[in-house]
Amino acid sequence: MDREAVREVFLPRREDCLEYLRKIRWKEGVKCPYCGSLKIWADGYTRKGARKYECRECGRYFNDLTGTIFDRHHFPIEEMFYILKEMEAKSTLQISRELGRDYESVLRFVREVHERASGYARGISLEGVVEVDEVYVHAGKKGERRAGRGRRRGLRKRGRGTWEGDKPPVLTLVKREEPKVRFCVMKNLRGVKRKLKEWIGGEVVLNTDEYGIYRGIAEEIEKVKEHRVVSHRQGEWARGEAHVNGCENRNGFLRAFLRKYRGVSKTYLQGYLDFLSLLLNERGGWLAFLLSDHLRT
Ligand SMILES: [Zn+2]
Repeated sequence: MDREAVREVFLPRREDCLEYLRKIRWKEGVKCPYCGSLKIWADGYTRKGARKYECRECGRYFNDLTGTIFDRHHFPIEEMFYILKEMEAKSTLQISRELGRDYESVLRFVREVHERASGYARGISLEGVVEVDEVYVHAGKKGERRAGRGRRRGLRKRGRGTWEGDKPPVLTLVKREEPKVRFCVMKNLRGVKRKLKEWIGGEVVLNTDEYGIYRGIAEEIEKVKEHRVVSHRQGEWARGEAHVNGCENRNGFLRAFLRKYRGVSKTYLQGYLDFLSLLLNERGGWLAFLLSDHLRT
């Protein structure tokens, strides 16, 4: 898209962005991010147009952006809203060109969004009916390669992808009832049981394919009450409730999402996938999640 067109017509109005942020963040009134007090004086505006406040309890100053993802970046707030909106569909390079901004600075903002998303994804614990499946993603050091085309049913080859070979395995975990997905980039799949043990929060009925890394998992992890195995090799895609169709579906989103980057660095792959899980899980609420108060003191 044309840079002038973006600047002239596609950017939101600054006041609308701030208004929206205040509506989300100060739902229960303006609250001091340092001491939690609600006794606050409003006191003018910052250069970015954010309202400034003084806490009457602890005497500290803050503003609408303090502690949010917008706080430590120099872009005007409407450009940061634009980046948030476009991150789902466009690469960082495309967005930086549209805004006429330095790629590295846009990338810094994108990475901070990823960090927030990672905090979100780490909070997803597994319980109930859970599906687990593996997918391999092309992700090198420099990230110039395309994302993997993924496997085709009936033709997939096991154990081909490795972290060292720039095709790290990713575990796709789906909580079928909520539903929620979490993606986990792995160095290798040998540690899969140990990792699952860490992520399982309550009793689970685990659905996997027949891959050997899952063998005996119900005996090794107490919270796995049942292990249902789907045999893809015999062309058996779903046996009643035993299937990993939820994973297959999310992996389709994963491939489409990564394709636009023409390769992602494997070091940062987890952040991209955490952002994707936030988008997929919180369809109507991901923006509000990113805008809410995250400051920890
Ligand atoms: Zn205070």
